[in-house]
Amino acid sequence: MVFSEAHQAFRESVAGLVQRQITPFVDEWEAQHDFPDSVFTTLGDAGFLGTRFPETYGGQGGDYLSSIVLAEEMASCGSAAVAMAVSVHTDMATPPILQFGTSAQKEKYLPACIAGRTVAAIAMTEANAGSDLAAMETRATRTAHGWLLEGSKLYITNGMRAGLFLLAARTGRPEDGAHGLSLFLVEGAAPGLSRRRLEKLGMNASDTAELSLVHVELPQDSILGEPGAGFSQLMWELRGERLIAAASALAGARAALGYTLEWCRERRLFGTSLASFQVTRHTLAELQTDVTVATSFVHSLAAQWDQGVPPPDGEIAMAKLVAGRVASRVADTCLQLFGGAGYMAEMPISRYFRDSRLMRIGGGTDEVMKEIIARAALKL
Ligand SMILES: Cc1cc2nc3c(=O)[nH]c(=O)nc-3n(C[C@H](O)[C@H](O)[C@H](O)COP(=O)(O)OP(=O)(O)OC[C@H]3O[C@@H](n4cnc5c(N)ncnc54)[C@H](O)[C@@H]3O)c2cc1C
Repeated sequence: MVFSEAHQAFRESVAGLVQRQITPFVDEWEAQHDFPDSVFTTLGDAGFLGTRFPETYGGQGGDYLSSIVLAEEMASCGSAAVAMAVSVHTDMATPPILQFGTSAQKEKYLPACIAGRTVAAIAMTEANAGSDLAAMETRATRTAHGWLLEGSKLYITNGMRAGLFLLAARTGRPEDGAHGLSLFLVEGAAPGLSRRRLEKLGMNASDTAELSLVHVELPQDSILGEPGAGFSQLMWELRGERLIAAASALAGARAALGYTLEWCRERRLFGTSLASFQVTRHTLAELQTDVTVATSFVHSLAAQWDQGVPPPDGEIAMAKLVAGRVASRVADTCLQLFGGAGYMAEMPISRYFRDSRLMRIGGGTDEVMKEIIARAALKL
């Protein structure tokens, strides 16, 4: 109901490109634990990497719902990993540049990112600072020529291929906590920045890296906004990130449910179909209800965003929490309906089972979401 005809047309063009140029290759990419950078340029050439960025920078000038459409159609490509890599680029690492950057920073970085020539990553997490971002230890110190960066980052999506990092570091004193953080634009080629690839339980086609930052010299104008504004900038970014991640997880759940329905109709046992058992039908009905209701909630929050009223943090946290739970439930229940076939690596449901687990951890864990919801409810 919230999508216009223009959104529907955009959905069809993204779906067409995904079917032709992404889905046929995802099995190969998952097996290789990698996918080519050309996915970004293909999406950039089609105008899909700048849906809500102004045309001045090569974007489409669209709205937040357009980003939701892109995330949902990408999530239907058969590899949540590829979809996540693209979402990190389009809806996590680059929007803060538009929101908080100077004209020079926007002109320097956004056109290349929107064209897909530069891949972007966002680097917040550290070994001792995940849920507790304010405990960040990576330091940026002022020098005569700019900033000196020392530290490390962990679990950074697109970290191996990124040409640009939106990187959080401490510019204040440790006792300043959240008030002492700032965001920096760090180019991938910066001397002193090195990367190590991490292997994961799932999301295999996406790259996840540990970054080491040893004596990395940054120019004066590499800071995004004012020193000390980093934490509130990250909180702004995380709102958009969580809603996009929720939409993406639910689109993946819809796709998984789609092929499970097909399987239940086709699978013969005890002289009948799996779908003929009432327990199967009721299970499917519950999943269908969960996915539909959760999706509707996410869409309503996204529409609110476009009306110029950012949804309250508590409601965004609810959307992420519910999407993660629904995705996990769909993954586990659908795998069960496939029986032994569901446990085979070659079956899409087993990939979805592994990949969907991340939703309850990345971008803020379930427990952190509950803290945000409780704080809002208790007005703390
Ligand atoms: C595949 C993958 C990709 C990622 N991509 C990125 C990326 O691109 N950029 C980036 O910056 N980060 C990224 N992350 C990091 C991710 O956001 C963090 O892993 C996540 O926020 C959790 O932090 P942590 O791993 O340090 O866990 P911890 O914070 O150590 O949490 C451990 C446990 O403690 C619980 N806990 C934490 N706080 C509380 C509390 N107040 N009350 C009760 N329980 C609590 C948690 O819920 C969890 O169960 C990625 C992670 C993964 C796995």
